[in-house]
Amino acid sequence: MQVRTRFAPSPTGYLHLGGLRTALYTYLFARSHGGKFILRIEDTDQEREVPGAVEKIYSSMAAAGLKYDEGPDVGGDYGPYIQSQRKDLYLPYAKQLVESGHAYYCFCTKERLDQARAEAEKKGENFKYDKHCLHLSKEEVQRRLDAGEPYVIRQNIPTEGKAGFDDLIFGHVEVDCSTLDDNVLIKADGLPTYNFANVIDDHTMGITHVTRGTEYLSSAPKYNLLYQAFGWEPPKYIHLPPVMANAQRKLSKRYGDPSFEDLLDQGYLKEAIINFIALLGWSPKGEQEIFSLEELEKIFDLDGINKAPAIFDMQKLRWFNAEYMRKLPFEEYLRLAAPWFEKALAPGKFDLRRLAELMQNRTEVLKDIPDMVSFLAEMPEFDPAIYTHKKMKTNPEIALQALKAVRPMLETIDPWTEQQLHDKVMEFIPTTGLKNGQMLWPLRIAISGRESTPGGAFEIAYLLGREETLKRLDDSIARLEK
Ligand code: GLU
Repeated sequence: MQVRTRFAPSPTGYLHLGGLRTALYTYLFARSHGGKFILRIEDTDQEREVPGAVEKIYSSMAAAGLKYDEGPDVGGDYGPYIQSQRKDLYLPYAKQLVESGHAYYCFCTKERLDQARAEAEKKGENFKYDKHCLHLSKEEVQRRLDAGEPYVIRQNIPTEGKAGFDDLIFGHVEVDCSTLDDNVLIKADGLPTYNFANVIDDHTMGITHVTRGTEYLSSAPKYNLLYQAFGWEPPKYIHLPPVMANAQRKLSKRYGDPSFEDLLDQGYLKEAIINFIALLGWSPKGEQEIFSLEELEKIFDLDGINKAPAIFDMQKLRWFNAEYMRKLPFEEYLRLAAPWFEKALAPGKFDLRRLAELMQNRTEVLKDIPDMVSFLAEMPEFDPAIYTHKKMKTNPEIALQALKAVRPMLETIDPWTEQQLHDKVMEFIPTTGLKNGQMLWPLRIAISGRESTPGGAFEIAYLLGREETLKRLDDSIARLEK
């Protein structure tokens, strides 16, 4: 049997990270079995549809590198792949269930249902439709259909017994039918509900494995009843635990949690995000943590999926990103970092190649770059207390002594290169009686105003240039003298 999986997002906004993880696991499961991965757009709830959201799904999938074998924009033998374009397909199936007694027409008005709902609420009960219309005679149903009365079609759930299914992660799940509601299958607008469409589509698209969030665990018994009613073999179910922002709540845009696109915009690398997301609820065998998508396609397995909710740890994502930043070919790093340098530094003023060399190993996320390099554009305010460093055996007094000593010598350096700066200063330090750290630590602070910088005193002096270096040095000396 060829494995066929599908990712079935609703176009209700952007691709959030929980959705991306579902997409990724679905993709990986298909690939690891040499199967097909399908994209289906579930847009039957047209009130919730957000304009542009479908395009966003395509672009996010492409940006993530999750190539689907079939889908709305790539075609395939089981199309259309957008539910609203499959509209005419569902009603005949629903009618088939009406014929066999597994579904029925319902003409109940909104008023009647609202009232029943309010009564249930008053009694503190969960609302369940009372099967009122199940008892209409065939003739009456026909008469009302002929008269053009609005209707829905409901699933006729048995009043007794159990409904269940087997999940590849959660095992056998079973509920009492008496707890299930006769959900609507076809709405008054003629479109199917998710409850119905997912079954019809998964079956008619030949889906063998259904992967989706655990929020569908409790409804899956109902879906399984539909498969049974049709006499179809149900797919294998793989319900995935949620991705949480913390122990209390799921990841959500409403709370400002970033989407996949947000992370890309902030300068996270897609490879790092994918690697991180892959491990959000799945553990590989062994200690390795860094995986390319190609590697994941080979080793992904359901055994590694954790039943407990996964917690999204931003620090861990930063760590992954830093790993991938370091591994980028230098030219690629330079290309990606250049716009971020330009946010802080006037174009053409600094040797960006050299700066990028110094920055690559220190960049966790590209968005951090402007803050890390802005001291080059403008000398920041700083507390002279940072001249104090125990290990370097230095403090503001020693700093003043060192800076005043080195100032005239620096002026003679020509050409102003890192090599010259290094050689001349290192040669000079012993003549002052100071230790290396007692000169280099204050010098770097005096010209950068920062306790930590990409590169040391020589690199920064080189990047700033002679004039700016000497000017900053003079200012810092003057401040220490006050
Ligand atoms: N359209 C559903 C959602 O976005 C998909 C559920 C499923 O994969 O069956 O949550």
